[in-house]
Amino acid sequence: MYTALVSVAREARRFSGGVYDLGLHVVWCSKYRRPVLSGRVAQRLEELIRSKADERGWQVIAVDLSAFPTRVKAQNRTRKHRAAQARVNGFHAKVRRQRVDHHHKAALDLIRSFDAIAHERLNIAGMTKKSAPRPDPERQGAFLPNGAAAKAGLDKSIHEAGWGVFLGILARKAESAGRGLVPVDPRNTSRCPRVPCGHTGADNRPTQEKLRCVRCGYTEHADRAGAVDVGIRAGLVLPVA
Ligand SMILES: [Zn+2]
Repeated sequence: MYTALVSVAREARRFSGGVYDLGLHVVWCSKYRRPVLSGRVAQRLEELIRSKADERGWQVIAVDLSAFPTRVKAQNRTRKHRAAQARVNGFHAKVRRQRVDHHHKAALDLIRSFDAIAHERLNIAGMTKKSAPRPDPERQGAFLPNGAAAKAGLDKSIHEAGWGVFLGILARKAESAGRGLVPVDPRNTSRCPRVPCGHTGADNRPTQEKLRCVRCGYTEHADRAGAVDVGIRAGLVLPVA
């Protein structure tokens, strides 16, 4: 990651209560990990910074376009650096503990309430697959946005929610309590759970939350309809008549 540090100041201002001089630092962080702030990009950025400062009547004292400090090996870190690192590690550990506590509680609730539980078999590897690159037909060697950045955020939240961890906890509790846990292969989430309809199609989902079958008119919250469908496929629930 690279930063641009700009120090600007304007002339001291006077008002009835005194005099002040406003100093500003602007820090610009690139969203890319690879070094992008060099050559033409750095030159253009400085141009933009200076023209913006001109526009605002700021006097630019210094523009420092430089890299963040590179990673320091653990044994070479200062005492302050190590203390900061320990605080960050402690924070992550706390979040992890809270998440696991929550998983245990939710799993216990399910085990206490139901004799058998069906769930969609997770395919975390598939869910976190990278978006395919979309070449730009107008420019050779260039690419159109493919939603990779948005997907990276989604990937992160999938990992963070830790569904795999939850299902592992649920499986152990189910086994020791003698409850049935039935994984079902994930299928179309826009499928009508009514029998014999079972109509499937994207037009069954007018919104993300809603399922309204275009063939038979069955209407239900999409998550509930999905859960009923999973239950039917696991043989735990009777089809909706
Ligand atoms: Zn239907």
